[in-house]
Amino acid sequence: MSEKPKVAFYWCASCGGCEEAVIDLAEDILKVVEAVDIVFWPVALDFKKSDVEAMEDGSIAVSFINGAVRLSEQEEMVKLLRKKSQLVVAFGTCAHLGGIPGLANFWDKESIFNRAYHTTPSTDNPEGVVPQEKSTVDGKELYLPSFFNTVYALNQVIDVDYYLPGCAPPRDLIMNAVQAILEGNLPPKGSVLSPNKALCEDCDRNETKPEKLAIKDIKRPWEVILDPETCFLAQGVICMGPATRTGCGQRCITANMPCRGCFGPTDQVIDMGAKFLAAFASILDADDEKEVARIVETIVDPAGTFYRFSLPTSILRRRKLEGK
Ligand code: SF4
Ligand code: SF4
Repeated sequence: MSEKPKVAFYWCASCGGCEEAVIDLAEDILKVVEAVDIVFWPVALDFKKSDVEAMEDGSIAVSFINGAVRLSEQEEMVKLLRKKSQLVVAFGTCAHLGGIPGLANFWDKESIFNRAYHTTPSTDNPEGVVPQEKSTVDGKELYLPSFFNTVYALNQVIDVDYYLPGCAPPRDLIMNAVQAILEGNLPPKGSVLSPNKALCEDCDRNETKPEKLAIKDIKRPWEVILDPETCFLAQGVICMGPATRTGCGQRCITANMPCRGCFGPTDQVIDMGAKFLAAFASILDADDEKEVARIVETIVDPAGTFYRFSLPTSILRRRKLEGK
């Protein structure tokens, strides 16, 4: 019988990019496979839920779970993996903070289904068919998972030991985490496995960020020819660097795109959107409310911009559910 630590990967509500990040380890994945036994990885290997159920509790050394939790099936699987695992790592932004799927918390199940199955311009659904949790086909009962009103970050459903941030987590952070786990050289439980400082502190453009910024107009990246060496904020383009944890290697900045905030906040920040909003408010060059309103109006989708990755774990958490 193998003595290697057992490792599981699981995918909840996400785009699949975190699974790609594992594949992107390229030759390093061979080192991982050599050091561990992968006992569950539905996207790549044919294991079943019953295989996990048959394992002893705590027999998996670590489960890497990506994606937010928005279906009853995901809730069931993450609870099962928690029971079977010594460590659970929230892998990537959606598991860590709720991520892009978490923006659905501005809506609810009814409005999402209405949009997806009835009113999108591309919908062709004359009979108005909508997925049902239970249906009968040829005399057999079929079941689909329940779709929740609210999208949850992983730690809102199960106990999480560590967080690997990023959309998706970069290769070196993944390898550092795997190595730390294999060597038992881990930081305190609950740590985010990335340096606890703001991206601006590491940013190559930081020196071009004026001491006192004064923004009169907000521009979107495609509206300007961006100087590749100047701070985006100094160019009037929203960059979440002041409110975002570093560790990504400035992936977007070096591609001449502003930071969207996928690494989430530093430990000191309770609400990432509010933190950026406060930083942003202090750099607006406006003398009266009217002028502030004019500048703010130039931001397309402010809530989606400031809470792009973190709505489920923010103080707001979700839009109020009418009558619920
Ligand atoms: S705001 Fe963005 S571009 Fe400017 S220093 Fe911070 S991370 Fe760099
Ligand atoms: S620059 Fe910002 S959005 Fe881009 S990878 Fe880094 S943390 Fe994520």
